[in-house]
Amino acid sequence: MLDRFFNIIAGDLDQWLILPVLYHFGWMEWEELSFDWALVCVYGMFAVILTYAVCWPLEYFRPVEHWPNKKAVAVDMLYTIVSRVGVLPVVSFLLFYQVQVWFTGMLVDNGFIPPTLETVFPFLFGHPLLTFFVYALILDFADYWRHRLSHGFRSWYALHALHHAQRQMSFWSDDRNHLLDDLISFLWFGVIGLAIGIPPLQFPLLILLLRFMESLSHANVRLSFGRIGERLLVSPRFHRLHHGLRAAGRVSCNYGAVFPYWDMIFRTADFSALYLPTGDARAPEAMATGSYLAQQWSGLKHFRSALKPRRHGPA
Ligand SMILES: [Zn+2]
Ligand SMILES: [Zn+2]
Repeated sequence: MLDRFFNIIAGDLDQWLILPVLYHFGWMEWEELSFDWALVCVYGMFAVILTYAVCWPLEYFRPVEHWPNKKAVAVDMLYTIVSRVGVLPVVSFLLFYQVQVWFTGMLVDNGFIPPTLETVFPFLFGHPLLTFFVYALILDFADYWRHRLSHGFRSWYALHALHHAQRQMSFWSDDRNHLLDDLISFLWFGVIGLAIGIPPLQFPLLILLLRFMESLSHANVRLSFGRIGERLLVSPRFHRLHHGLRAAGRVSCNYGAVFPYWDMIFRTADFSALYLPTGDARAPEAMATGSYLAQQWSGLKHFRSALKPRRHGPA
């Protein structure tokens, strides 16, 4: 039912906004995809509304910190809108779709039928929920290593420091990333998506759920899922330790985005019941409290200086 509702809104958005723009500029070749773009935007909008509806009351009634002014949060809201509803999902969907069409075409031309998860694991046939769970596990595993490596390299962390610089961490902070870091993530997941054959719009609702969990884990809320729950899903308490001032930098804990299993397996999990202040004391101030553009620019400068060989003191 919800699917139908989304389809109707996407249809309207397509008809009244996207198609007229395409016609105006003579970009008719995209016409076939325009409904899918609209759907991506509608799902993104719904995700933001759902996240707000759940997380705002939580932050209001059980906050970890009280802030006299929330200027730094406003910039994070912009990040969320840009990366969930606006430009980024449309561009990345478009790119992924194009590359996937080209890639599958190339495989088929060479007499090779691209495998899907179901052809590799036939027991998944007819079990869409289980299939989704396996996809989610694979993507989350990949994300664990992307995130862990982004802390491991000095230059990569210079970009990721933008995510950590926020001292007023809230449910809006999940998408607070440097655009170059977003590009790396896109390539990382693009390659994995091609390898395991993710159909771009197969699981939008479930993907929403995963994104929702990621936003929730950043919320400024005193919330733990209990002894067992904490070991099943990443909670705000778990992810907050990753953002703790104490942990900021190259070696951290709790890298997992949705499932804590990888942290448990690779011994990076920390389940202590602490709610520490967040931020990265070494990140430039512009990264923490600057405007969107100031943060991006500062990230770029930080990245460039991290690329230079480190100067050692006198021997
Ligand atoms: Zn991190
Ligand atoms: Zn985070």
